[in-house]
Amino acid sequence: MGDFDADVIVVGGGISGLAAAWRLQRREVRVVLLEAAPRAGGTIGSTREHACLLESGPNSALETTPLIGELIGELGITGERIAAQPAARSRYILRDNKLIALPLSPLAFLTTPLFSAGAKLRLFREPFIGRGARAAEESVADFVRRRLGSEILDYAINPFVAGVYAGDPATLSLQAAFPRLFELEQKYGGLIRGQLLGARERARNPDQSKQAAAMLSFRDGMQTLTDAIARRLAHIEFNAEAVRIVAGGNGFGITVNNAAGGRNYRARAVLLATPAQAAAGLIAPFAPQAAAALAAIPYPPVAVVVSAYRRETIAHALDGFGFLVPQRERRRILGAIFSSTLFAGRAPPDLALLTTFIGGMRQPELAQLPAGEITAIAQSELSALIGAPARAEWVRVTHWPRAIPQYTLGHPGRIARIEQAESDFPGLFFCANYRGGIAVGDCIKSADRAARRVAALLGVGASAA
Ligand SMILES: Cc1cc2nc3c(=O)[nH]c(=O)nc-3n(C[C@H](O)[C@H](O)[C@H](O)COP(=O)(O)OP(=O)(O)OC[C@H]3O[C@@H](n4cnc5c(N)ncnc54)[C@H](O)[C@@H]3O)c2cc1C
Repeated sequence: MGDFDADVIVVGGGISGLAAAWRLQRREVRVVLLEAAPRAGGTIGSTREHACLLESGPNSALETTPLIGELIGELGITGERIAAQPAARSRYILRDNKLIALPLSPLAFLTTPLFSAGAKLRLFREPFIGRGARAAEESVADFVRRRLGSEILDYAINPFVAGVYAGDPATLSLQAAFPRLFELEQKYGGLIRGQLLGARERARNPDQSKQAAAMLSFRDGMQTLTDAIARRLAHIEFNAEAVRIVAGGNGFGITVNNAAGGRNYRARAVLLATPAQAAAGLIAPFAPQAAAALAAIPYPPVAVVVSAYRRETIAHALDGFGFLVPQRERRRILGAIFSSTLFAGRAPPDLALLTTFIGGMRQPELAQLPAGEITAIAQSELSALIGAPARAEWVRVTHWPRAIPQYTLGHPGRIARIEQAESDFPGLFFCANYRGGIAVGDCIKSADRAARRVAALLGVGASAA
């Protein structure tokens, strides 16, 4: 160890930093995790209020990789895990002010009123449309319009992108935001061909597509996962904001502001697991180009409104995951999750718990309104769209001023500059949701990859668990 306080300092205790620190600790690497907030979890936050379980960040995770089940097993919280209720398989999309179930089978697709006959026929052309040039970066909107037509863009992809990224398909990079779709076209020449010809390859891959993956949470919410990791880390400091990094010699010096006023750490490696803006500030003095690339990643604001209604006062059956709102419908919410349908035990049986999302790239100004105005928007939209009464029993608003990183056009170039900093400063690593996917499962996968790279640098056995 020499004069080092740790082998690696992980900065940021969201799921990315926690999962990476846990993997490293399992490999007997000496890890110190620094978290600026008084608790672990970052975006993940679950609380119990009014006998309900509220999520202010992610409501669920998709088990897209076996690493998630392994992690849950290692932490001893398998018994806490819960699966989404079968009713949550259905999803609704708003069209002409009506909620229409998203078709889940080819037959349902042919008969759904969600898309016109013209839009359905247009899909038969998809296999005959040539592939785009690999080198030319294309937006998600251009790709979908080119291959599937503008109605599928407006009434399937636009609401889906709002639901996942709070994003806008016109600004997202296909290659960065949906790498699987990009590869499907590049490899097989089209999406339908890829679906058919790629079946055998998918069967061999232990990872699951987001459509096929199981949806999970925990009895006490998503925070069970991040709390469990935080409890098991040998050295985690809260209220400890990293404010300065010095890269020099064969290691790094890190200055931390904490309750004691401050302290300096030295470590052989540092893994930055903070949002991009914070990472940019920390590396700007020695890696200005990568810092500029990080600072250029947009994070739109989102407001999350959890509201409870007497179940019998809502006209809609709430028989699904929730609904999404296409931009063309000109409403003031992105969509809502029927939280009390999604998982059992989220609310007493006589209450319906709903989680509504406002803002994103589509309407950033709405997410910045005062909580009272946000509440009024959520209530009036839920009233118009699902027949909820004018006022909820109670409401809780969470503001995320910088909610979700957008993998916009130019993102692959930004990631290349971040990779350049990693190779210019051996021991410096970046691992957070602006890289490798924003979903909780993606963050766990990226953390595993980052931990392997840190372990390799430190010369710790690559075969260890
Ligand atoms: C409203 C919302 C809903 C979502 N819903 C879903 C969903 O249903 N399913 C899903 O899979 N994903 C969802 N996501 C995405 C997912 O939750 C996030 O991408 C993921 O949790 C991000 O984890 P992270 O560790 O990369 O970053 P963060 O959670 O942002 O953690 C970063 C941490 O770094 C800390 N930090 C920052 N600066 C410093 C510093 N200088 N020193 C020390 N610490 C610092 C912060 O305090 C924070 O704890 C949602 C996101 C949002 C905002």
